[in-house]
Amino acid sequence: MEVVKEILAKIKTYQTILIHRHQRPDPDAIGSQVGLAEILRASFPDKMIYQVGGPVEGLEFLAEMDEVSDETYHNALVIVTDTANSPRISDERYHLGAELIKIDHHPNDEPYGDVVWVNTKASSCSEIIADFYTLNQEELTMSDEAARLLYAGIIGDTGRFLYPATTPHTLEVAANLMTYDFNAAELNRELEQIPMSVAKLAGYVYQNIVVDEFGAASVKLPQTLLKEYGIVDSETAAIVSLPGVIDEVLAWGIFVEQPEGYYRVRLRSKGPVINELAKKHHGGGHPLASGANAKDLDEVAEIYQEIQQLCKACKK
Ligand code: AMP
Repeated sequence: MEVVKEILAKIKTYQTILIHRHQRPDPDAIGSQVGLAEILRASFPDKMIYQVGGPVEGLEFLAEMDEVSDETYHNALVIVTDTANSPRISDERYHLGAELIKIDHHPNDEPYGDVVWVNTKASSCSEIIADFYTLNQEELTMSDEAARLLYAGIIGDTGRFLYPATTPHTLEVAANLMTYDFNAAELNRELEQIPMSVAKLAGYVYQNIVVDEFGAASVKLPQTLLKEYGIVDSETAAIVSLPGVIDEVLAWGIFVEQPEGYYRVRLRSKGPVINELAKKHHGGGHPLASGANAKDLDEVAEIYQEIQQLCKACKK
């Protein structure tokens, strides 16, 4: 593949490489970002490789970020993983480098960068990074730590191989990664572990979910409730998939009120495509897993109505 050769050529050209990912990182954001960083460190020990971005929000067991000065970007290559749109890139200094590469698996709504490698068929961006290694095996080195991170990213984005984006190739890639020396069982446990406060919030979700006759579901999490349960926004990631196990539920929105008053909207679906809906509300994402924003409860109600219409059309 031409683009893969081009990316490797650029990596070889630059002495300093900074790797970014999206805000509010999930395991695939960190897995693809730091997995690539670790492959490059193992492959090119003389190069300066940095992983840059805001707080990793509860995923410290995966990796921490590097502190870098603005000067580091001078004459440097910047690679952004797992991020569809430039406003979502964590640490806006990504544009300070000499050249920019985008590597992602979301629909290519904004093809920012000098080189763009987007594969929407990949289960995760970590799978693409693992492919990048495999396609350049003669020149790159996979380390145990890189394999651990990429495996975590694949597990994270596929819900442990549950979601439809999981392909035979995904399983092949994961199997190859498992041949490296890391404890996959322990990693799975770390990724699944939740504090008691989040377990109680899970109880709230099941008690209070609203589902209509067509399978459209909604859960609202006001700030007062999050405070009562002692939950911060990033911890709501653990409850987003819960409605999916309910028979009657086809697509759902979790509306998380932010301290500023607007709502972060997390959309998931077992059938109807929901990313166009997300785009209408300052968001985006995958056909069956998207995110958006609602300025107030009126917009929350509007989004739920749109989910209802999609579910109704799907059931017809
Ligand atoms: P989340 O609910 O935050 O786990 O997001 C699910 C998917 O939607 C991820 O693939 C995100 O990249 C995408 N996504 C979430 N929020 C946004 C947003 N504000 N704009 C664009 N894409 C988003």
